[in-house]
Amino acid sequence: MTRVAFIGLGNMGSGMAANQVKAGREVVAFDLSADAMARAKEQGMSPAASAGAACKDADIVITMLPAGQHVREIYMDAILPNAPRDALLIDCSTIDVDSARTVSRDASMQGFRACDAPVSGGTAAASGGTLTFMVGCREQDFKEFEEALKPMAKAIIHAGDSGAGQAAKICNNMLLGISMIGVCEAFVLAERLGLDGQKFFDIASKASGQCWSLTSYCPWPGPVPAAPSNRDYEGGFAAAMMLKDLKLAREAAEMSGADTPLGGAAEALYNELVGRAGGGKDFSVMIELLRGRL
Ligand code: NAD
Repeated sequence: MTRVAFIGLGNMGSGMAANQVKAGREVVAFDLSADAMARAKEQGMSPAASAGAACKDADIVITMLPAGQHVREIYMDAILPNAPRDALLIDCSTIDVDSARTVSRDASMQGFRACDAPVSGGTAAASGGTLTFMVGCREQDFKEFEEALKPMAKAIIHAGDSGAGQAAKICNNMLLGISMIGVCEAFVLAERLGLDGQKFFDIASKASGQCWSLTSYCPWPGPVPAAPSNRDYEGGFAAAMMLKDLKLAREAAEMSGADTPLGGAAEALYNELVGRAGGGKDFSVMIELLRGRL
């Protein structure tokens, strides 16, 4: 039976690891949180005493951790010293490109195959096994990584060499952060001009203003029933997560010399939003900041 070590069983990791169990794989789990470990046990995983212990005899090691520092430390202290050399190492966390390349380089210098495989899709897609994975790895290793990721995925795309998955993720999310602000500004202006929100949606969603932020996560309550705006902006993609991704995009832009003025402006606005409203609400709550209600 394929043995998967899963490290980081939070909002995303818990559902992802459960889908590995459903696929008939043995999952050995580790998280610093006792609650997460108890939930993992209920979901049919074997709890490990440490991240290093989880990696022993693993065929696949998957990490789903908050940030680059956590991933670098776990790779150095637990994974590389303990995992078998033929194990596939997969980091699904959203982290900076530099950390992704560093852990992948360190792993391959020790003879491992490693990839960065960040995801698009929130907790519902993690539980439903419908995430989109953007994979950064050597071309010749992609097929095996694809097989390892399948129980958790709707789509698995090879983005390029190591770090390319993270690059794709932060470019996509910078675009998303900017487009959401654009949609919010348009609704606020429409409102001030006396244009009905539903009418504006009906027109823009069939005109050149159409985009995902408008038609899937419409910040104006009503036109898109499943959007978080209908639930007081609860659930969805937390504003704090968007701020984290915009910071990663800015760091990557500074490192590479790219000019991203709208990405910078979006980061400043999300920083203000999180400062005033906290980071827990869906990122479309930006409309309330622009309306002057926060
Ligand atoms: P989370 O905070 O819910 O989970 C992270 C888990 O990692 C926690 O359970 C924590 O205890 C554990 N952890 C931290 N350090 C650890 C260590 N040293 N050893 C073992 N466990 C450790 O976060 P999340 O929402 O699951 O997000 C995880 C990653 O996925 C992040 O990088 C995030 O940016 C990315 N992501 C999240 C979403 C989302 O909608 N939540 C969507 C796409 C990508």
